[in-house]
Amino acid sequence: MHELSITQNILNIVNEHAQRAGAQRITIINLVVGELTGFIDDSIQFYFDMLSPGTLSEGAKLAIRRVPARIRCRACSEEFELRDFNWVCPQCSAIGGDVIQGREFLVESIEVE
Ligand SMILES: [Zn+2]
Repeated sequence: MHELSITQNILNIVNEHAQRAGAQRITIINLVVGELTGFIDDSIQFYFDMLSPGTLSEGAKLAIRRVPARIRCRACSEEFELRDFNWVCPQCSAIGGDVIQGREFLVESIEVE
């Protein structure tokens, strides 16, 4: 997915929530973005600035929390952080594993007025 469509999704979700809560406007949107999503903070911000005017999200601060990628080795079950896309297990040198963290993309919370 592209940042444009995911940013549009975020806006739809938070605007709907804020509206249902009877909020005047949204002040902060807390996002969680996994490293493996490939989404770039600046791009999300760019599309947010483009799409939010005229909605309850206009002027809200985007707070993005990046979540590092974590891998579980299939050979020895060691869990390690993926750095520089190096998939070699530091424990047993096996290559590859299962992603246990890093694909997250969600709205953690919003703050409204
Ligand atoms: Zn291993």
